[in-house]
Amino acid sequence: MSTTTESARKSMPSALTFERHAKCSTTKARASTLHLPHGSVQLPIFMPVATQASLKGLTYEQLRQTGCMLCLNNTYHLGLKPGQEVLDAVGGAHKLQGWDRNLLTDSGGFQMVSLLELATVTEEGVRFLSPHDGSPMLLTPEHSISLQNSIGSDIIMQLDDVIATTSPDHARIKEAMERSVRWLDRCIEAHQYPERQNLFCIIQGGLDLELRKQCCAEMVARDTPGIAIGGLSGGEAKEEFCKVVDTCTGLLPEDKPRYVMGVGYPEDIIVAVALGADMFDCVWPTRTARFGQAIVSSGTLNIRHKEFAQDFGPIDKDCTCACCRPTEQGGLGITRAYMYHVAAKETVGAHLLTIHNVHFLLSLMNAVHQAIREDRYPDFVRQFFSNQYGGDKSKYPEWAVGALRGVGLDLLAD
Ligand SMILES: [Zn+2]
Repeated sequence: MSTTTESARKSMPSALTFERHAKCSTTKARASTLHLPHGSVQLPIFMPVATQASLKGLTYEQLRQTGCMLCLNNTYHLGLKPGQEVLDAVGGAHKLQGWDRNLLTDSGGFQMVSLLELATVTEEGVRFLSPHDGSPMLLTPEHSISLQNSIGSDIIMQLDDVIATTSPDHARIKEAMERSVRWLDRCIEAHQYPERQNLFCIIQGGLDLELRKQCCAEMVARDTPGIAIGGLSGGEAKEEFCKVVDTCTGLLPEDKPRYVMGVGYPEDIIVAVALGADMFDCVWPTRTARFGQAIVSSGTLNIRHKEFAQDFGPIDKDCTCACCRPTEQGGLGITRAYMYHVAAKETVGAHLLTIHNVHFLLSLMNAVHQAIREDRYPDFVRQFFSNQYGGDKSKYPEWAVGALRGVGLDLLAD
């Protein structure tokens, strides 16, 4: 592990301002505003994932209408196609996509390790075979940052050494954590535009809380503009997920945004916010839309179920998205019956449900922000769980009850 002392480091420039508004008086939830180069975003936030510089099924105008101020692009995909040369020529991914709001890019490492069976990690970087022509390629921390510099995203992520959270190989988990710290140093060194792109570090350490603590100390000392908690949402038990988030947020500075990667189920987000997390992303809300699943206040609806064939109400009665809003209010007045007819069959079905799901999650996050600012987050969480489980407390998941109890919120109390 690097032994550079904090005093020896020069402070990294930051292209963001983190404005704190309120902290929940019971849980660890925080409400703040993150001022980024392409506009301000309210935290806590959910960030939809536009893998190939397009949110499947949505135009950027439609994405804008959902209220989205910050979405994800994948460095791995953009690096392969259109490639760095095109990105440099056009002046970055904002221009390529016609998106004038904020972008966050991952480092590309996760895609490689998760998509490519033949990826191997060495101190130098991640070696893999090109999915195009099978030729050997190497993604180093320097190359990842160079690509993200060309993309021009407002938030860029360090290359980290990613392994499955459920890996039983403790020595390998430790190695990955320590290597991620060393790779952060290389990323900081390689980063060309710290005054306009914010580099986030990624805390690793698997489910081992001691490793997570060590990693927090090392990463915090590097003073990046924001901090991510990585390596989760990989099939670990929810109890373990909560312990890691809770442990890390307890050690992270109050004045920086905290991003828990790969989280998109409303229930998980609501709990992670109570544990002190601010930012989330996941492909699930958009992917599930393509399979005909609508996110609503009572959970998830399979809109292809025949019970909806003659249901002429909106997808969700309280939703104000372009689909659910009545035509008199300028919306499309889409009914469940219509969605039943087109979902997972016609392109327009995926398209409409994607608009709804993204809008629904962004509205939920907006409501979370307001509830924290008005210091009524515990009541908000109680209402959320009551809606999800039809008021039946016996159905509440134990992991959520336990995690919330740990931050002073008893879901089962009257
Ligand atoms: Zn809707």
